[in-house]
Amino acid sequence: MADTSSIRKFATAADYTKNFIVQGEIDKYLPGGKHFIDDALIAKCIDEVASRPADPVRVREIIAKSESTCATLLPEETAVLMSASSDPALFEEMRAAADRIKHKVYDNRIVVFAPLYMSNLCVNGCRYCGFREGNDLQQRRVLKMDELKEELDVLAGRIGHKRLIAVYGEHPTTSTEYIAETIETCYGHKVPAKRSGRLNSIRRVNVNAAPLPIADLKVLRSVGIGTFQVFQETYSRRLYEQMHPAWSVKGNYDWRTTCFHRCLEAGVDDVGLGVLYGLCDWRYELLATVLHARDLERWFNIGPHTLSFPRLEPASGTKVPEESPWLIDDVTFSRIVVIARLSVPYTGIIITARENPESRNRVLDHGMTQLDCSSNIAIKGYSDFEDESRQEKTRQQFMLGDGRSLDEMVRYLASRDTITSFCTAGYRCGRTGGCIMDALKTGREGKFCKINAVLTFREWLDDFASDETRAIGDSLIVKELAGIREWLPKFYPTVMKQYEATCRGERDLFF
Ligand code: SAM
Ligand code: SF4
Repeated sequence: MADTSSIRKFATAADYTKNFIVQGEIDKYLPGGKHFIDDALIAKCIDEVASRPADPVRVREIIAKSESTCATLLPEETAVLMSASSDPALFEEMRAAADRIKHKVYDNRIVVFAPLYMSNLCVNGCRYCGFREGNDLQQRRVLKMDELKEELDVLAGRIGHKRLIAVYGEHPTTSTEYIAETIETCYGHKVPAKRSGRLNSIRRVNVNAAPLPIADLKVLRSVGIGTFQVFQETYSRRLYEQMHPAWSVKGNYDWRTTCFHRCLEAGVDDVGLGVLYGLCDWRYELLATVLHARDLERWFNIGPHTLSFPRLEPASGTKVPEESPWLIDDVTFSRIVVIARLSVPYTGIIITARENPESRNRVLDHGMTQLDCSSNIAIKGYSDFEDESRQEKTRQQFMLGDGRSLDEMVRYLASRDTITSFCTAGYRCGRTGGCIMDALKTGREGKFCKINAVLTFREWLDDFASDETRAIGDSLIVKELAGIREWLPKFYPTVMKQYEATCRGERDLFF
């Protein structure tokens, strides 16, 4: 059990809303009251660079810089790429470079995970969200620990997931104590696998929750949190205030924008940024994301572990997802993903099942590294529904676009010579935050992780795959092992020892 004696407790929603924010933990990271989201600089980049035709020579210089240094670009450079991305020929050059960078940093791997919603009670009033306070169309529920175990039976026993993103509303009933208990429950619950009967469990729990104070983040660190994700929704202070009422905790823009500074101070050093695309001009959001990443790098020498690209989706009791003036189409979405990969080259790029299958398939070679599948976001949906792709608007935050199962996704990825990785070794070996920034930028981490990808892929094929998927997966593994032998001839026998042990049924072997 986590020691939570150092954190503040709130008995009521009103007390929580009034007292949760710790002003000193905001001020510290906005010295002199100056915000790192520099509106004037962003406006200048949009008006003077992103809105004017780009010089192809300059575009190629920026692509080359991104590829060779793997360092975060300057906002002015990102603005040049924005302008260039409307030219089909230049965009294709950018896309190909984005794909090369993805391969340099992450090889041909895609990491998979599943979302697990723990609760939909919320003290906030975000205008685009089905969980917002006062939305009577939503059936409210907080998972109890035995209900959570039923969800894990499906996720770890029937589907075969090893990584979760655990998602929470913001409410005193789902305080840090509750979040810590759910993380510990996820790690502790072992389930027989559908095909082999061998025990499987969740090995990495990432969290998407509201911003927390430093003391609370330290508690989550103590129970082994993976990445802490908080989506900024919009970086535009004006639009942020329109979407998030001033009476709510989330109405405090500065509390949210400084949350990763607090994470890194607390030692939670894998942080996941994101914008809810469709609330504001996408160019503003992407330039602000670059400024955010650069500020984290300036303070801590650590940038975002991941960037997510949620788009507004239909939700119960709100018209914002259909009526916002800033909704983006699929072509713009592809441009955003490519520009993001080139602008923050070392980061993981997550594209969720909010997207439809065509859109997700399209951006696979745009620099993406992670996706979710077999996803159900209804509260207790995995265990209540026979078919995990079933959706119920009154039990979920918004509607999903891609209902493909993990088995189908693994098969599809393998058909594109892409290995599905279930590896969770990195953070368990302390390869997080600053420790892996250099390894990522030089491509060392990508090659190293290929070995762990092969071992965990073997586990999943033997424990969960359908016969059809196993056959195509087996052929891919043959190719991957040949690649490892060529790349690391001396180390290859050691790799093969672990591989053969995995084939015999040993589990969770990694380098
Ligand atoms: N409640 C916490 C918070 O808002 O910080 C945790 C995150 S919330 C459960 C998960 C994320 O879902 C939000 O940050 C938001 O970006 C996204 N979201 C909310 N409504 C959405 C919608 N209609 N379509 C797509 N994504 C949405
Ligand atoms: Fe609550 Fe998060 Fe939904 Fe806002 S986005 S209403 S904070 S669950």
